[in-house]
Amino acid sequence: MRILIVEDNSLLGEGLRAGLSQHGFTIDWLQEGRQALHALRYEKFDAAVLDLGLPDIDGAQVLLEYRTQGDGIPILVLTARNAIGQKLVCLEGGADDYLIKPVDIRELAARLHVLLRRREGRSTSVLRHADVELDPHAHRVRLGSEQIDLSPREFKILHTLLHSRGRVISKEQLEQHVYGWETDVDSNAVQVHVHNIRRKLGHDVIQTVRGVGYIID
Ligand code: CA
Repeated sequence: MRILIVEDNSLLGEGLRAGLSQHGFTIDWLQEGRQALHALRYEKFDAAVLDLGLPDIDGAQVLLEYRTQGDGIPILVLTARNAIGQKLVCLEGGADDYLIKPVDIRELAARLHVLLRRREGRSTSVLRHADVELDPHAHRVRLGSEQIDLSPREFKILHTLLHSRGRVISKEQLEQHVYGWETDVDSNAVQVHVHNIRRKLGHDVIQTVRGVGYIID
């Protein structure tokens, strides 16, 4: 799952990025409101974590402008303690949830999972297809009753495809999900990961749609 973090404090932003990455999210991080609006409009994220006090335009303004464009992805707002007025403004302005700083990464990760799940109308985060079961929260994959070790990137690819079951996902979309804005990604990287997933879980789990992408169906 690809998450946009908007946080101008370098220390906190870096902490959020590192922490959420460890929980299996692909993280892109921006420090300004206008950049965030642009990215939210033109890039594909699964959710965003939005700080309110930003150097150019306020986070509440980002939220408002983004929401007036249409529905959009789940957004979790980070607020300062005791700023009850801010919280109300955000929830009424279209935030899906909020957390008070200082943020506990485990709680943030758990809440993001809830938001993503709620959006899909599922009551559990666990994704299943045939004998394969993926638990994003526990970061665990099973084939039948056997636990299978996937690398973090293999896990992300499987997660993305299971999450979009029945839809073809292009190589470029998978790259975005796995690498975010990371540069110099090997052009064969996704292919190699898919190959390794098939080796571990069986060849039939992921199907190749030639010239288009990959699908789990
Ligand atoms: Ca701030």
